[in-house]
Amino acid sequence: MYQQYRVVPETTVDLDRREPADRSAFAGDKSAGREAAKQLNRRLESLQELLYAEGRHKVLIVLQAMDTGGKDGTIRHVFDGVNPQGVKVASFKRPTPQELAHDYLWRVHKETPGRGEIVIFNRSHYEDVLVVRVHNLVPPAVWERRYDQINAFERQLAEEGTTILKFYLHIDKAEQKERLQARLDEPEKRWKFAKGDLAERALWPDYQAAYEAVLSRTSTPYAPWYIIPANRKWYRNLVISQILVDTLEGLEMRYPEAEEGLEGIVIE
Ligand code: ATP
Ligand code: MG
Repeated sequence: MYQQYRVVPETTVDLDRREPADRSAFAGDKSAGREAAKQLNRRLESLQELLYAEGRHKVLIVLQAMDTGGKDGTIRHVFDGVNPQGVKVASFKRPTPQELAHDYLWRVHKETPGRGEIVIFNRSHYEDVLVVRVHNLVPPAVWERRYDQINAFERQLAEEGTTILKFYLHIDKAEQKERLQARLDEPEKRWKFAKGDLAERALWPDYQAAYEAVLSRTSTPYAPWYIIPANRKWYRNLVISQILVDTLEGLEMRYPEAEEGLEGIVIE
């Protein structure tokens, strides 16, 4: 039922036609939604344990969003209580001089999951066709090539056994205004407010266009994008949890065989 949010490969995405406040895939209200997410969270806990025990699959989750889009909150809620052993978050900030001395995928490839691991990318290689494109940090001819390079990179990861899910947390400009205002108003949130966020906000249309290019050109059968309605945090968490649980269940994982002859063992 959440497949409506999946971006069909090779279709053109118009973000104005995606409703950030949508909640149409869930019949209940906010408290029912939270309850449903809690149930999913328990399933996720046991699926992650199984993934770790089996040690076969690698899972990569990419989170991208405008500022205040809710990447941190998503990680906190969706993975609440999941065993930190076997789940890692990799955050990609402005590249260091050493990172800039390498190709843009260098720092990214190092963080991809190994067998039995789930890795969540908080921002990702997509920044190299988002902020980099919006601010002209490299010439157009350079970022233009990157969509194909990214697809090739993700295809390689997938062919080598990585399951990839990419979530764009879709909020609208009015919602961002409220969230930025809350960061100013609430003392415990102020640390999150960066004046620079206002300059980025002014570039909203440019970012939306850059996101549309990403979503239109890099949603593939092996690494699909999902556009998650994210104005309502509870709905965002619910949809992402459901997609994750469905995907992990689809891997048909099994606990490894126990050693033979354990039945008769008596521990003295
Ligand atoms: P977030 O905003 O993700 O919650 P944060 O507030 O803790 O993170 P910031 O320093 O605001 O940290 O975010 C990281 C910044 O690094 C973003 O502005 C992002 O666009 C920028 N960034 C990430 N990757 C790149 C890149 N490849 N090139 C240039 N800037 C990048
Ligand atoms: Mg920030």
